[in-house]
Amino acid sequence: MTSIATLGSHCSLQVLKGAKDEGFKTLLVCEKKREKLYKRFPFIDELIVVDNFKEVLDSKCQSILEQNNAVLIPHGTLIAQMSSDEIESIKTPIFGNKWILRWESDREMKEKLMREANLPMPKPVTHPSQIEKLSIVKRQGAAGGKGYFMAANEDDYNTKRNQLISEGIISKDETLYIQEYAAGVLAYLTFFYSPLKDELEFYGVDQRHESDIEGLGRIPADQQMKSNKVPSFNVIGNSPLVLRESLLDEVYTMGENFVEAAKRIVAPGMNGPFCIEGVYDENAKFTSFEFSARIVAGSNIYMDGSPYYSLLFNETMSMGKRIAREIKIADNEKQLDKITT
Ligand code: ATP
Repeated sequence: MTSIATLGSHCSLQVLKGAKDEGFKTLLVCEKKREKLYKRFPFIDELIVVDNFKEVLDSKCQSILEQNNAVLIPHGTLIAQMSSDEIESIKTPIFGNKWILRWESDREMKEKLMREANLPMPKPVTHPSQIEKLSIVKRQGAAGGKGYFMAANEDDYNTKRNQLISEGIISKDETLYIQEYAAGVLAYLTFFYSPLKDELEFYGVDQRHESDIEGLGRIPADQQMKSNKVPSFNVIGNSPLVLRESLLDEVYTMGENFVEAAKRIVAPGMNGPFCIEGVYDENAKFTSFEFSARIVAGSNIYMDGSPYYSLLFNETMSMGKRIAREIKIADNEKQLDKITT
């Protein structure tokens, strides 16, 4: 019997509830400090308690997962806490394409895949001296926006970088990535691509609420001017959004282009959930600054089904449940190797 496992954080509740609803045994790799939290949820059958998520790489943890024929669902925590080499070395079958996660973590590879998918991107800035327009400075990997800052020119960049280094938020030898800031309405577009059906589904849109960049907008400009705090983009939560219907066609095209590009350059392609993240400007033109090649935490807002999934399914369907459904179908058809790596 196949079971479904994930790490206890990010969207694990949604994933395991969906797995249970589809009839799977559920396992959660759980840090000791969160044991009490996760014990509250009866749909979690087994907790594998660890001191640190890296223990997933240890033979003890892997053998429990193996005994349970587990499929591991990757999410942001796996990427944030493990290197690409470590993720790729995991023996447990990983849902989707574990090789594409490296393309998400590495800024240059990310840019290459986005370009291949024809996604309209903000202009990258190769050196602080090249900052001409308001730009955003990011760290490598899925840092969740912590330690990111905006810079209007090279001096501004140096002042803020030095301040963040002295506050211990970023390190001196960290390579930072700069791109032009795209202003507009934030929209994080989540899709699911099924290699079993060769079909792309659009799941929904969320917005991220980031602190304290949002907090800054709530205080008057004269107070903002007096503050010398460097605002960060640390994600606190998410809220739902629906798009003007006239934008949907382009949304599907972007998703399809992404799936096609991934098929070409990182086999077996973009299987399972993924998210294209960006902003719509005043002309409703989308600029994408980022993608996630796995389930995003923004999907948590639709645990009871998203507006767009209610058009596709006559039942409540969360992304967690959609993943479990795909595993169930593949399992029944002995095609698990088609949807895992
Ligand atoms: P995650 O992995 O959690 O998605 P990340 O560390 O990869 O985060 P990004 O998604 O690239 O970081 O950026 C974090 C936030 O910074 C975004 O949610 C958005 O609010 C803002 N942001 C990033 N790039 C841009 C941009 N070019 N223009 C405007 N805002 C941006």
